[in-house]
Amino acid sequence: MTPTITLVRGDITRQSADAIVNAANSSLLGGGGVDGAIHRRGGPEILAACRDLRASRYGKGLPTGRAAATTAGRLDARWVIHTVGPVYQGPGSDASLLASCYRESLRVADELGARTVAFPAVSAGAYGWPMDDAARIAVETVRATETAVEEVRFVLFDERAFTAFAAYVDASR
Ligand code: ADP
Repeated sequence: MTPTITLVRGDITRQSADAIVNAANSSLLGGGGVDGAIHRRGGPEILAACRDLRASRYGKGLPTGRAAATTAGRLDARWVIHTVGPVYQGPGSDASLLASCYRESLRVADELGARTVAFPAVSAGAYGWPMDDAARIAVETVRATETAVEEVRFVLFDERAFTAFAAYVDASR
């Protein structure tokens, strides 16, 4: 099966879902943007679990394009799935790494048994990926991924992001 895609404009930290995806950085130790918001609202339990991941499986950090789960702390979700998007390097940037973030996050969601998963626009903030292209890669990848996840909800922070995602979701309906 492939998931149903829904779009919401808003703050991902206020969503109820089985899992919320974090556009993390490789250190897993927090950052700005959606990462900062998730740690602020989710509380210190998430950071403690990230430190455990660093101490166990990801001593050198979580590689770009990969995903790993922790508790969601005080968020209205069971898990946070942290994924590390690629930094945009200009035209010719490796879109497969951004696609991998969505595939790997859904693979981890399947391992957890999550059925609803909320994603932000990974790489489209501080990491500089052009929103239109980030939206196309996100929607195409989710549509092409076999998963037991029933709903993928893209949670878009502003109107520009929402419009970009809506163009691809509507086009492929
Ligand atoms: P990256 O470093 O992967 O680019 P950012 O967090 O800087 O990650 O930005 C990714 C996207 O998430 C941007 O479109 C940004 O506007 C958006 N964003 C920031 N805060 C939130 C939030 N609380 N909920 C949903 N999206 C958010």
